Amino acid sequence: MQKGKINVKADNIFPIIKKFLYSDNEIFLRELISNAVDATQKLKTLSTAGDYKGELGDLTIRVHLDKKKKTLTVSDRGIGMTGEEIKKYINEIAFSSAEDFLEKYKDQAGSIIGHFGLGFYSAFMVSKKVEIHTSSYKKGAKPVKWSCDGSPEFTIEETEKDSRGTDVVLHIDDDSKEFLDENRIHGLLSKYCKFLPVEIAFGKEKEWKDGKEVETGKDRIINNVKPAWTRKPSELKEEDYLSFYKELYPFSEDPLFHIHLNVDYPFNLTGILYFPKIKRNIELQKNKIQLYCNQVFVTDSVEGIVPEFLTLLHGVIDSPDIPLNVSRSYLQSDSNVRKISSHITKKVADKLMEIFKNNREEFEKKWDDLKIFIQYGMLTEDKFYDKAKKFSLFKNTENKYFTFEEYEKLIKENQTDKDKKLVYLYSTDVEKQYSFIEDARSRGYDVLAMEGQLDTHFINHLETKFENSRFVRVDADVADKLIPKEESRESKLSKEEQDDLTAVFSSQLPTKPGFSVVFESMDESGSPVTITQSEFMRRMKDMAEMGGGMNFYGDMPDNYNLVINPNHELILRISEDKNKAVGEELKKITEKIKPVDDSKNELEKANKDKKEEEISQEEKDRLEDLNKKISELQEKRKEVLRGFGKENKLVKQLIDLALLSNNMLKGEDLTRFVKRSIELI
Ligand code: ADP
Repeated sequence: MQKGKINVKADNIFPIIKKFLYSDNEIFLRELISNAVDATQKLKTLSTAGDYKGELGDLTIRVHLDKKKKTLTVSDRGIGMTGEEIKKYINEIAFSSAEDFLEKYKDQAGSIIGHFGLGFYSAFMVSKKVEIHTSSYKKGAKPVKWSCDGSPEFTIEETEKDSRGTDVVLHIDDDSKEFLDENRIHGLLSKYCKFLPVEIAFGKEKEWKDGKEVETGKDRIINNVKPAWTRKPSELKEEDYLSFYKELYPFSEDPLFHIHLNVDYPFNLTGILYFPKIKRNIELQKNKIQLYCNQVFVTDSVEGIVPEFLTLLHGVIDSPDIPLNVSRSYLQSDSNVRKISSHITKKVADKLMEIFKNNREEFEKKWDDLKIFIQYGMLTEDKFYDKAKKFSLFKNTENKYFTFEEYEKLIKENQTDKDKKLVYLYSTDVEKQYSFIEDARSRGYDVLAMEGQLDTHFINHLETKFENSRFVRVDADVADKLIPKEESRESKLSKEEQDDLTAVFSSQLPTKPGFSVVFESMDESGSPVTITQSEFMRRMKDMAEMGGGMNFYGDMPDNYNLVINPNHELILRISEDKNKAVGEELKKITEKIKPVDDSKNELEKANKDKKEEEISQEEKDRLEDLNKKISELQEKRKEVLRGFGKENKLVKQLIDLALLSNNMLKGEDLTRFVKRSIELI
């Protein structure tokens, strides 16, 4: 491999410009028009200062296409240039700055390709020849014509020109014919020049006459010279912001509200950011924030320039302090840009705080739509989190809103568990988890509504931020156990009786998803039967679903607990019914088990201190025999219990009720449930 230096001399600048900048060649028009705007603004400044005493006249910048001559002309009525100035500004400076540029970025073709701002010379990306016809505002200056065909040689001569200002004439290259198309040029002007401060005319207004489109005599003006963000917030009304939004994004729904940025220290920054109404998918954002430099459109891919969460917003940011004449990767690592970015974050947070303070009612009304931006910001920017924690809201299942601080106060008393941890209860689906919410409420607990797209992540984040707190989904356990307190309740059923009921209930449980029967001693007024899913397991599955790299959990089958309250009257009744119906039969089997069990215990006792090899084969066989017999008898017992359970409508009804309140009873099962309910009534 050979290494070498690109030899940057004036001779080979044009081929390099053409080759490297090709991908972005459309920006030539923006560059030429920016120059025209600058020249016009300068003249205005001179006039205001009294250094130019002539008439300003019509200052409109005109863009003109001549298809026959294959030219595109940009004309301004600005300060113009003298022959000396052309030599100074066009011939020397531009060459040397281009040289500097290429020298600096010679190792980075990529940054050259993505580059913009080569100024006047970018015209050569699309032209085989460029002419400048210019007449300076200065008294006695002679109009001059400069011409260059893309080689380092140029000509300069005196010429005729009536009006003050500059015409830049591009003789469009054969492989850039697209720039002779009216629609293409109109599109470019709308993209880059829509908000430039000097009027730009391209062609004539059109109107419909006798069924066809005809040109009127009126200039078609491309731009709005005084866009909303350049005006003082005090001059603007709500509808001005709204109509500017429509100007930016014609087909969009009205935004939630706006933030007008207006900073002049430590850097210059103006802009208007809008919080849009977001539908479901936040990925599908087509309206992006647009970045301007002195009203010239620069880019709408602002990732890395504004904080990530703000890329969800819409609107405009304008700053002359963003170094626009370099590549994006440079832009992102620029310290000025980073300062601006963190400043915008701060401004947005301040503005939200202000709205929250001044008009909480309005803020709450918009919260549900606003929440996603704020949560996203809090998740991704710690600085934003620190500000937003004061106005970020929790909404509970009764649709009341609280700040974090208010909410902590609300639940502190009642929802602190025995380890002094504050337990935040939440629901991800208020409708589906309704019965759990009701149960929790009946214990004086409050339940948060966390149904948003980002809520699962947000909860995890809050757990790392809130001290001594945890979040528990309201259906993670029976209400009594959601927030474990000191006292534990007695069970009215013995361990043996509970085991019997486990077999009884198992006989009627659905096989899919999997269920385990467990007993939780609750108050007798608590639900007899509830279905729960462990908080941990469910969260892991949720994360796997969101693509959190936890596929292992995603593949696990759903597993639920059927929780029986042994203190509830109905459960006690089932236990009694069971005793009445099969008590005798069970007793007989138990009596058979007893002697076998005794023999087994005796044998085990005798062998307790022996080593494995000291126990005779005969004894081992006998033990195995006894064990087998015991499990056979136990199995028989279970059979009897299952037989009882299967026929028991109350058992089925209780299971179905629990399934129903979890939205798990569907189709045929649901129909049967309804029929059975009627029978039972
Ligand atoms: P930049 O605009 O970044 O200075 P350019 O290469 O675009 O670089 O232009 C070089 C200089 O030529 C400008 O600074 C300006 O003095 C002069 N110039 C270019 N276009 C015009 C114009 N339309 N009217 C008057 N002067 C111009």
